[in-house]
Amino acid sequence: MMKKLALLAFACIAFSCAARAQDAQTPKTYKLAPPPPCTNNKGELVRFIDSSSERPGLAAGMADRDSSGKPVVLRSNFTATPPEFQSFIDRHECAHHQTGDIDRPHPPRNGPEHLMNESISDCVAILRLRDEEGYDRAAINKVTTAMAVDMAKIGFPEISITSRISNIDKCFTRPGSPQDLINKILMKRGLL
Ligand SMILES: [Zn+2]
Repeated sequence: MMKKLALLAFACIAFSCAARAQDAQTPKTYKLAPPPPCTNNKGELVRFIDSSSERPGLAAGMADRDSSGKPVVLRSNFTATPPEFQSFIDRHECAHHQTGDIDRPHPPRNGPEHLMNESISDCVAILRLRDEEGYDRAAINKVTTAMAVDMAKIGFPEISITSRISNIDKCFTRPGSPQDLINKILMKRGLL
């Protein structure tokens, strides 16, 4: 137990050092990945909108409806992260539209239902990268490496990072198409 605690403490120190070292330099920028096709469960086209706001150096996505009620994905600071992770974020946010999450009441933050929705979106995103973009294990590892760096920067505990990545690694070997998984979820929710 002591050994594990010591290791965890070391990991945290290593992460914060990395964050400081990175802040001191000019942040690296990557080329912008093209957004994927995305249609929600009602057949509406989802629009992707780029912005560079609030937390520079940290790429983030958000699925929402705009002021006129049209489905959108907001891509914020995407050039801060490698294209593989940009592509993952796009498909993860798209999955929130495809599964109907956006039009359902938002479950309590970090409660079991919220975490389940996040796992489903991660899984759909990985299946799309596997089946539509031909990502192999090496490409998936680029996604999870960038994800671990960003989650650590935000301050997620190590356990959240490893359990999210282990779900993604499992999804990569899941039989069936991304649409099969989406249909299963929609059926369960009475949306299909
Ligand atoms: Zn999400």
